[in-house]
Amino acid sequence: MLKPRILITGGAGFLGSHLCDRFIKEGLHVIAMDNLITGELKNIQHLFHLEDFEFYHHDVSKFVHVPGNLSYILHFASPASPIDYLKIPIQTLKVSSLGTHNLLGLARAKKARILVASTSEVYGDPIVHPQVEEYYGNVNPVGPRGVYDEAKRFQEAITMAYHTYHNVETRIIRIFNTYGPRMRLNDGRVLPAFIGQALRGEDLTVFGDGGQTRSFCYVDDLIEGIYRLLMSDYPSPVNIGNPDEITILDFAKEIIKLTGTKQKIIFKDFPKDDPKQRQPDITKARKLLGWEPKVSRAEGLKITYEYFKTLSQDELYQRDHKNFDAYVK
Ligand code: UDP
Repeated sequence: MLKPRILITGGAGFLGSHLCDRFIKEGLHVIAMDNLITGELKNIQHLFHLEDFEFYHHDVSKFVHVPGNLSYILHFASPASPIDYLKIPIQTLKVSSLGTHNLLGLARAKKARILVASTSEVYGDPIVHPQVEEYYGNVNPVGPRGVYDEAKRFQEAITMAYHTYHNVETRIIRIFNTYGPRMRLNDGRVLPAFIGQALRGEDLTVFGDGGQTRSFCYVDDLIEGIYRLLMSDYPSPVNIGNPDEITILDFAKEIIKLTGTKQKIIFKDFPKDDPKQRQPDITKARKLLGWEPKVSRAEGLKITYEYFKTLSQDELYQRDHKNFDAYVK
């Protein structure tokens, strides 16, 4: 019997590559697509020898052609770190707007079910806490994060429109901060930033007074949530994340303890429009998908630290200083 075929955009990225692994394991034929701007081939090199794995080097903002049938599409292509948005703002806007449009068209043509990766950033700097799916958010369209937040909000709107007007089977996941092996050490996000600083013997840079909060989900838990949502019949957005909330200052202290670094914490300017609090309300995921996170931050951080320790010196020191310095004052 022919295996169902799934297209995973952003397939060489952090989440995309873990999704490739998961769907290979589920017995599907996986087509990974990536333009490799932020994705890295090393994340999927262990899959290249498999008959049921293909890789297309392509930018989904341009017309997407995939020969043959498709049962599923997962749209996970997008820069996801605030430093990347500064570096490639137009691409960030295009991949979730034009890219999503192309992939919805492909889903329609192939009669495939499509799941798009949305984000807690649709809530902006949230006034409602924890964030429920019914909250409309507090986003600055013209701030530095607008290029990501508004593109993701547009993505949700066009996905819902294709569902309503073209009967495409759609799913929308709102992903909260996720971490784990294969994150880019130099992507600027807080966890790789802190661990990278500890490994290089630099001080840990906390932005603002560190009182802002985040809730970190280990990647395996997230992937399970994505799988369950894809297999469900629920077209409205669903939050997936770990509600265990922590301030960034306490998080820095956890990383100091974990790594045993002798470095100290230094305070930098608070970035514009940086959300001051973030915690998912996962009541819907619990009820609809029977899903909840299983991996504690202590366990997840240990695994992730072990991964970062395996990276070469080159990778450890390869950092886009210009962009980091533009962001960190
Ligand atoms: N942050 C920090 N130091 C860093 C990088 C990030 O204090 O070196 C803070 C950042 O200001 C934010 C939080 O950590 O409040 C999470 O930032 P990240 O870029 O990981 O993702 P976000 O959740 O803001 O999209």
